[in-house]
Amino acid sequence: MSKENEVWTIGSILKWTGQYFGEKGVENPRLDAEVLLSHILHKERIQLYVHFDQPLQQHELMAFREAVKKRAARLPVAYITGHKEFMGLDFCVTPAVLIPRPDTEVLVEAALKRLKDTDQPEILDIGTGSGAIVVSVLANIITARGTAVDISEKALAIAKVNAEKNNVAERLQFYQGDIYQPVQGRIYDAILSNPPYIPNEDISTLAPEVRQEPALALAGGQDGLDFYRRIINDASKYLKPGGFIALEVGIHQARPVASLAESISELSFDSIISDYGGIERVVILKRK
Ligand code: GLN
Repeated sequence: MSKENEVWTIGSILKWTGQYFGEKGVENPRLDAEVLLSHILHKERIQLYVHFDQPLQQHELMAFREAVKKRAARLPVAYITGHKEFMGLDFCVTPAVLIPRPDTEVLVEAALKRLKDTDQPEILDIGTGSGAIVVSVLANIITARGTAVDISEKALAIAKVNAEKNNVAERLQFYQGDIYQPVQGRIYDAILSNPPYIPNEDISTLAPEVRQEPALALAGGQDGLDFYRRIINDASKYLKPGGFIALEVGIHQARPVASLAESISELSFDSIISDYGGIERVVILKRK
């Protein structure tokens, strides 16, 4: 991308960038090149293919060059475009929030299934981040109301943007605070959470992209289970009888997390659900 006076077309720049990203160790080099270029050209990805011969204008080239530099430094694509799709909805993301993952859709689908016969369900999302979980539940259940809690003010600001954007802001309240601290005395039909669950010593082994996500959203203490202990220990105080708690977990954590409920008489084990890659990803516990 450095040659003077060269005319870059959509086709030639994608080829060059795909190769460059590959050399930089990017996992899906060609895909990322296409996503970034379609973002800058305000085109659907498919349209790039029918306009392969279209030359890039100077300002487009400059903007793309900036994006390529960031991606080559292993900044995640979603932080460069500022967007991520989740449950078919568009979410704004910044480095203040974890980027929503397809794995977390498994948690949302499980919650939707269990809430479909509940009249006007009340949902608590602990550590809401971008708001992906609670915003998509509210977008799918139009009578549902939600509470989004996060310890990070910056994350809550993004979650609010996403609630507005997806037209659920009137049914969602936001509180800054630590786990249940802002919702003392309230009860819910469902508590949903994708808490930080990476064991501290594994943080340095994560992909460079993941290490650019907020440590606050990743680090789960020595064994990665700190937040599950705290969430599960007090859960029954905040659940209506028959209500449930659905937790996303990391690899090999499902069974240890499920067993945290064994000593709590008001809770019973419901199920473990695997993600699309076959990893046990969601633990569901019920309030008796
Ligand atoms: N899913 C993230 C990852 O391993 C971790 C998110 C979390 O700690 N909740 O990439």
